[in-house]
Amino acid sequence: MTAVDTIREWLDKGYNLPEEENSFFVMWVLINAYYNEAYGEKDEWKRVLHFGRDFGKVFGELDKIDVEVLVNPECVGGGMLTEPPNRYVKKASEVLRRKLGIADNCEKCRTSKKRRCRDIQPENYDFQNFEALMRILYQIRCNLFHGEKLDRDVNQQRRNHELVIRGDTILRRVLEEVARK
Ligand SMILES: [Zn+2]
Repeated sequence: MTAVDTIREWLDKGYNLPEEENSFFVMWVLINAYYNEAYGEKDEWKRVLHFGRDFGKVFGELDKIDVEVLVNPECVGGGMLTEPPNRYVKKASEVLRRKLGIADNCEKCRTSKKRRCRDIQPENYDFQNFEALMRILYQIRCNLFHGEKLDRDVNQQRRNHELVIRGDTILRRVLEEVARK
């Protein structure tokens, strides 16, 4: 899905999208405004990671369940159906699973996804906890824009919705922290 497709879709049914999805969009727009102003890295994902490092202390204040949902039962994929996570997301998921004491083996993934996930070599990158979380949230944001919601499987729709709800909660929390600056 291109940006134009996303814009068309939003104009078509924006206020009829699930409330949390719209809220997640707004939260991300606000955070995006902050990291674009505060950081100079050329790649957006690098600005996102920088943001995650700067607000790392938020991690300790989050509800464990909100974090857990993002990495359990399966990695957030690359956007379409059973597309596996990219190498950074896989590494970020590993880091957070270890932190939460979840066995890191993608055992609970859908079979079709697990097979592909297994072949992904986690990026050799030393994530801090909140930085890892922001990397996964950035992936959810990308997926929202690029079509994960086209998933026709009801269980997956439910999971996507859950990811957005938890993500929205976490983003709200970090925005409060930004506002304190
Ligand atoms: Zn996985």
